[in-house]
Amino acid sequence: MSDIWGSDIKVEVGKHLKLKNGKNKIRIGSRPHAANIHWEDSFAGKKKKAICPGSGCPLCNANRKYDPRYYVKVINRDDGQATILECGPMILTQIKKYASDSDYGNPMNYDISINKTGEGRNSKYSVMASPCKSSITAEEKTLLEAVDISSCVEPTPIDEIWDMGLVALPVDVPKPQESNVTDDDDWDSVE
Ligand SMILES: [Zn+2]
Repeated sequence: MSDIWGSDIKVEVGKHLKLKNGKNKIRIGSRPHAANIHWEDSFAGKKKKAICPGSGCPLCNANRKYDPRYYVKVINRDDGQATILECGPMILTQIKKYASDSDYGNPMNYDISINKTGEGRNSKYSVMASPCKSSITAEEKTLLEAVDISSCVEPTPIDEIWDMGLVALPVDVPKPQESNVTDDDDWDSVE
């Protein structure tokens, strides 16, 4: 994934750090970016994701809730790679506590362990900072620079939300087009 010229260093969109049960050791590599995520059922039976565009959001106007999510660049200490940690307020507030504690300060200067217990929606996360301080290396910086968070937090355009076919946003069933199909006598002769 990383060639020495740096040109091919890229983290695939959506390839986020998957927190495993137990200890996940990371180094924070950027400020957190926030997005409010709507997860909605579609008429096609699938869950669809929309990043809330804020004012004028048709889902908010329909009193639909969203999940506040935070995206932060991290170095995964398991494999040394740069990736994106997507987390909710439970993890973020704990990191913020360390960041505002003068004994720790900026979380880019020490490792953090996120301990995960439970599964899915019942997962619990506790955050513990390492007491050892160290700087992010030049190599790690290069890896982090190649990670793009903007696509994680870019609001979904309002038109696009309407076009998702969401159950929460019923639109008038489009009028059936006048049929272009005419009787084709040729088919009748096919045996
Ligand atoms: Zn919204």
